[in-house]
Amino acid sequence: MSAPMTSDCGKVRRDREEMKLTPAILEATYNFVRATPPFRNWRLPAGHQVRFRVLKTRKKLGVYQWDNQVGHVVSVSEGKVSHTIVLVPLMAHEMVHLYQQMCGTDTKTEHNAEFIRLALIVCRHHGFDPKEFT
Ligand SMILES: [Zn+2]
Repeated sequence: MSAPMTSDCGKVRRDREEMKLTPAILEATYNFVRATPPFRNWRLPAGHQVRFRVLKTRKKLGVYQWDNQVGHVVSVSEGKVSHTIVLVPLMAHEMVHLYQQMCGTDTKTEHNAEFIRLALIVCRHHGFDPKEFT
């Protein structure tokens, strides 16, 4: 969007910059989503207990991984994600993977039946399109 923005001193400026992802932005997004239903009932770890990484790749939007050394890792591609409207549902998607890892319901299938069931609940709460979410 290129709507004029008002800075703190009241001057109108144009801000056409895209969001530059940082681990801190990813952690803040995670904590926001974690505070909302259905995630708030899932006993997910706090953001400071999750490792957030910004990827350079343009091959995928993001990925959740369990790492035996560092634990939960959520990575998001700065080459594919620069808008909040993409970041929030992506983070929610990766958080479903994280929850499945915690519960031991993840399988070799990337999006198993349990993932689809949880994803539909998330989509109902947040207004995400299930066809884009899964
Ligand atoms: Zn996935």
